[in-house]
Amino acid sequence: MADADVSQTLATARAALARSAHGLAAYHLNACVKCGLCAETCHIYKAQPEVQNHPGVKAAQVINHYRRYHTFLGRVLPRLVGAKELNPATLDELVETVYGRCTACGRCSLHCSIGLDVAAVIRTGRNILASIGKVPEGLQRTVDNQLKTGNQMAIPQDELISTAAWLSDDLKLEMSDEAVKVRVDEKASRVLYLINPREVKFFPLSLMAAAGVFHKAGESWTISSKFYDVTNYGFYSGDDESAEELTRRVVEEAEVLGAEEIILSECGHGFRSFRWEGPNWIRREYPLPMRSMLELLEEYLASGRIKVDPEKNTERVTLHDPCNLVRWGGVSEPQRRILKQVVTDFVEMTPNRKDNYCCGGGGGMLSMSEYGDRRVASGAIKAEQIRATEAKIVATPCHNCADQLIELSKKYKLGVEIQAVVELVYNALV
Ligand code: SF4
Ligand code: SF4
Repeated sequence: MADADVSQTLATARAALARSAHGLAAYHLNACVKCGLCAETCHIYKAQPEVQNHPGVKAAQVINHYRRYHTFLGRVLPRLVGAKELNPATLDELVETVYGRCTACGRCSLHCSIGLDVAAVIRTGRNILASIGKVPEGLQRTVDNQLKTGNQMAIPQDELISTAAWLSDDLKLEMSDEAVKVRVDEKASRVLYLINPREVKFFPLSLMAAAGVFHKAGESWTISSKFYDVTNYGFYSGDDESAEELTRRVVEEAEVLGAEEIILSECGHGFRSFRWEGPNWIRREYPLPMRSMLELLEEYLASGRIKVDPEKNTERVTLHDPCNLVRWGGVSEPQRRILKQVVTDFVEMTPNRKDNYCCGGGGGMLSMSEYGDRRVASGAIKAEQIRATEAKIVATPCHNCADQLIELSKKYKLGVEIQAVVELVYNALV
């Protein structure tokens, strides 16, 4: 790279850091007291106790850059406070740390002795790198797919429509009901349902189950053939402009279709992105309510719109709590109340709810093949949590976690099946 290009890149990186360096974020960027107490809270450090995997050390990589440009001592006596310049070498180190050694799961933030949000600090690092195009290739490709085609897997529109058609045929046979179908682009439906594109490609049973439950509940619902993706990989990459664009498109599509509510299928970061981060990105309140499918399923059960028989699910079931849905998103109880009604033998993992461990596949890890070995190794903590329950089925309200858990089941010989909550509800329908 020419010198002029390098200095322009570094100026852009410093500007991205400056955008994060104010208010509460500035506190998080300058507060770590290096007590080291967060070490054992991180699944990556627990599985691979190398110093580079320590949450405090990871946070320090970003904090040291902040100190260099935004504190008095960092400017005049950088060595004294460990302040570091942004330069090509430190930026390469930053890529390895913030994408390759952290899923931004926030468990260390929960346990930090002074309340420092390590995950937010890590995301500042991702903001810096996204601003200069240093997002790992696999993760960036996923963002590009979403921007270009409307979904992260670049599934053509006609493939979505044909999948919906054959799933509808299967559902008609299975439910002995000619009226049931996967509804696409049906205007003025009450619910616009967002799904993970993995449901179209790899997990059609969860979309089929949702369609069956909606039908039984007498719901007016549809998916959009253009903007149905519940995920937001701009959130993972640290690219807020792309995150904004992906949010805005969906909200506008809901208005075009005349929906009254957006329901988000089971997806951890999708829930957090759309429900909590989205209005900040698009800088306006949503014109319609937005809930997780779990909240709607619970409402159907409570109101009697669907009836279930737990004797249809008699194998032992445990529940994995996706970090972005539970620790960050605040949705921890509906899935438990649902499972207790639709299965006969529900057991909790330990620890659980907001204290649960990340599966290892969060933060966009699944799309970055270069970190695959570390991802599977860091899943050892989750694997042992699952094994201890002696469950045969792991319910998880997240398709991203489901991918990782399927891999962990094979690698660690857990012998468990992974299912979405809606699949267990569908199976229990009477
Ligand atoms: S956010 Fe999660 S993965 Fe990252 S350092 Fe903290 S506990 Fe580890
Ligand atoms: S617990 Fe908090 S203050 Fe202590 S090292 Fe970890 S991030 Fe820093």
